[in-house]
Amino acid sequence: MLNLAALLEDGARTTPDRDCLVFGDLRLNYALVDMIANQVANLLVARGIAPGDRVALASPNTPYFPFVYFGALKAGAVVVPLNVLLTSREIAYHLRDSGAKALFAFAGTPELPLGERAFAAFRETETCELYIDLPATPGATESTIEGAETLWAALDGRPGTFSTVRTEADDTAVIIYTSGTTGSPKGAQLSHMNLLFNAVASDALFERTEHDVYLTVLPLFHIFGQTTMLNCGLYRHATLVLQPRFDGDEALSLMEKEGVTVFAGVPTMYWGLLGATGEHDIAGIAKRLNVAVSGGSALPAELARQVKERFGVEILEGYGLSETSPVVSFNNPRVKAKPGSIGLPIWGVEMKLVDSEFNDVEGEGPGEIAVRGHCVMKGYHNRPDADELVFRDGWFRTGDIARRDEDGFFFIVDRSKDMIIRGGYNVYPRELEEVLMTHPDVSLAAVVGVRHETHGEEIKAYVIREEGSELTERQLVEWAKERLAGYKYPRLVEFRDELPMTATGKILKRELR
Ligand code: AMP
Repeated sequence: MLNLAALLEDGARTTPDRDCLVFGDLRLNYALVDMIANQVANLLVARGIAPGDRVALASPNTPYFPFVYFGALKAGAVVVPLNVLLTSREIAYHLRDSGAKALFAFAGTPELPLGERAFAAFRETETCELYIDLPATPGATESTIEGAETLWAALDGRPGTFSTVRTEADDTAVIIYTSGTTGSPKGAQLSHMNLLFNAVASDALFERTEHDVYLTVLPLFHIFGQTTMLNCGLYRHATLVLQPRFDGDEALSLMEKEGVTVFAGVPTMYWGLLGATGEHDIAGIAKRLNVAVSGGSALPAELARQVKERFGVEILEGYGLSETSPVVSFNNPRVKAKPGSIGLPIWGVEMKLVDSEFNDVEGEGPGEIAVRGHCVMKGYHNRPDADELVFRDGWFRTGDIARRDEDGFFFIVDRSKDMIIRGGYNVYPRELEEVLMTHPDVSLAAVVGVRHETHGEEIKAYVIREEGSELTERQLVEWAKERLAGYKYPRLVEFRDELPMTATGKILKRELR
């Protein structure tokens, strides 16, 4: 029996008075966070959510995320975290695909009107029976969304104790939506064991202080933030300082004010810290900052150098995927590291290189990284066809192409899949192409990532227009912007008369890039 909620329960038992979450002026200790999660669990049971039922959660990094995450886990439910930038259509797809019975969504702010979109998606999804509004004002019992019930109204009078449902190590705890070569997002089923193991493994990689303070700005709905910040942080009984949206100056102010010891981010965030223009006590921040972690996309050597110079800390680079909970390998300068490498497999994980026929590639490679170990997902939710593509003889195929040196260090050279990573967000070209091609003036579209100094990659669409069309680049960008989440519409459009193709009619993206 193992339930990931034990991470929070252990903190509540042994360090009840320690700050667990800091959010603006709010400071919530471990005992209080656990109590609210118990109330959420009681609410779910009272509303008919049974063990194994899916509970969708759309929230930026606010205290609501851990309340609902651990509340649902305690009730034995499966959490389905959703990206907060999804459109209504996209949210409805995730609700239907996961078969979610409940949706908890942050009402949002004028800049991020999430609640309206989520509620519209809920209303068109018959299988989803419960909608709970997470209001922008903590404690509000009246929803700003007509017809919705707020969390605080729903929790009123609920007991603050709960007997956590018995789950087995292999039961699914979380379904993380991700894509791959196929375009439509698929749900990677991560078990209680997968997630607990990866949080503990992350803890073993990061040096500890007596009382760690994590700047939690990586989105918790993404597996990188969820494991290395939320789960690893709670395992350590750390204080999590929540920042819902990255801003370099604000991040530095929080680091200064709260004495942050651990920072994890995608490379774009590190550029943001370096580019901050406000006045900060950099020496003071550097003195407290003990661990800096990067992952999600390649860490440029120049960036690592500048961070070391400014903050006196060596960035530790990790590699992983949603399907691997996520950490697979780690490049730790405190042990042994190589610039530009994703390091060595972490404890309990094996990596090898394979060719397209799944034969082992010996020596340097290159080859596709295959992974085996406790971190690997159970499989995709209701997608045996997708499982068949990624699992082979007990190994998971990552789609990432790497080389290996004589010491066993891995170096990523390419992604065999075409996913674009823009500022840490995954963008799946095929999904965009499908949308672009619904435009009456577009006859063919191919989307690729092009190098970008701060975002890592920028999204560019190569488009063939219908004959006689006068569609402009600007018009097409605006049109796409209305239909796709803010992080995934193409910023650059180039019209072509033809696109490079293979003999079998596949667009040669490598050439476009
Ligand atoms: P996700 O499923 O969102 O976690 O995305 C996983 C993908 O991110 C991997 O398949 C890699 O292509 C990429 N990735 C993750 N970490 C690194 C890294 N350190 N260097 C290069 N690419 C990375």
